[in-house]
Amino acid sequence: MRQVVLIAGGVGGAKFARGLRSALAEERASLTVVVNTGDDMWLTGVRVCPDLDSMMYALAGVNDTARGWGRAGESERVGAELKAYGVGWPWFTLGDLDLGTHLARTTLLREGLTLSEATAQLCLRWEGLRSGPRLLPATDDEAETWVETAEGTMHFEEWWVRTRASAAARRFVQRGVEQAAPAAGVVEAITEADLVILAPSNPVVSLGTVLGFPGAAGHPGVPGIAGIRQAVQQTRAPVVGISSIIGGAAVHGMAAQCLAALGQSCTAENVGLSFGARSRGGVLDTWLVDTEDASALTALEAGGLTARAVPLWMHDDGASRRLAEQALLSAHAAAEPRGHRPSAS
Ligand code: GDP
Ligand code: CA
Repeated sequence: MRQVVLIAGGVGGAKFARGLRSALAEERASLTVVVNTGDDMWLTGVRVCPDLDSMMYALAGVNDTARGWGRAGESERVGAELKAYGVGWPWFTLGDLDLGTHLARTTLLREGLTLSEATAQLCLRWEGLRSGPRLLPATDDEAETWVETAEGTMHFEEWWVRTRASAAARRFVQRGVEQAAPAAGVVEAITEADLVILAPSNPVVSLGTVLGFPGAAGHPGVPGIAGIRQAVQQTRAPVVGISSIIGGAAVHGMAAQCLAALGQSCTAENVGLSFGARSRGGVLDTWLVDTEDASALTALEAGGLTARAVPLWMHDDGASRRLAEQALLSAHAAAEPRGHRPSAS
């Protein structure tokens, strides 16, 4: 049975994950999704894991597709009460259904389960997740992303949700990442995979916090979780990445501001070259850019990558599935001429 590992952030990663699950449905394939935990935080006494929740809700089919995040059919009575008491963040919405998830997770953590064990238990609630895909947090340790800005240092979610990324970011700091180990099962999944895919997720604060992303000269990058980066560099599986940058701009969100903080330009070409080819110490074999960015292919190939231009817009589940099929095809192309590659350390 083919084993596929997807490394992803929240909403963008989840859109792709739905397409990938659909593209893999006809073959007997197992899908493991390794999800960024840098956005996680303690808020009003509960552990909130935004990217894990976006992924779980989308794969369970209960996400709010109109708003783009959270649960469908959400209400905010508890959140309004918390605001009235003056606790939590007034600008951060915690829906009632969503709070149910956070309370359940926090209960399990308090009972002594690890985050990966708690995540597995939460997923059992959902019909669409009971027999896979398997969701794994990148780490069971707390390694939150904080942002150094002109207005002071704040949690990533405050920077994003309260300031809408308007406070110029100087640096992203993954607090405690040096001590953070890959969550149980992550290294094994990557090592035993037949294919590893990097979702079209934010390259710095979703993928970089897992795999590392370099800063340009004079700018600190993000280190990622060392054991996961190493596992991706050493797996025999081909590694295919998909750009979240199209035509020099992030499709949605604040990737441009994140890249700017690292002194990096917001292009599909630069992001692919910055992740880098595994043959040159990076984490990628193949990089998919949008047809609009086809002019980047030559430079990407010169950087040691196999590069292809395909439609990257995920307007709906059908488009996500077609993109996932392209990623699966690219993996065959990457694997065939070289066979199983030696570890690229
Ligand atoms: P977050 O954690 O919720 O911010 O989600 P991710 O990090 O997984 O995904 C955010 C990224 O998804 C953004 O950088 C967007 O550019 C990218 N994205 C969103 N929609 C699309 C799409 O249709 N196509 C591509 N290629 N990227 C997308
Ligand atoms: Ca996120």
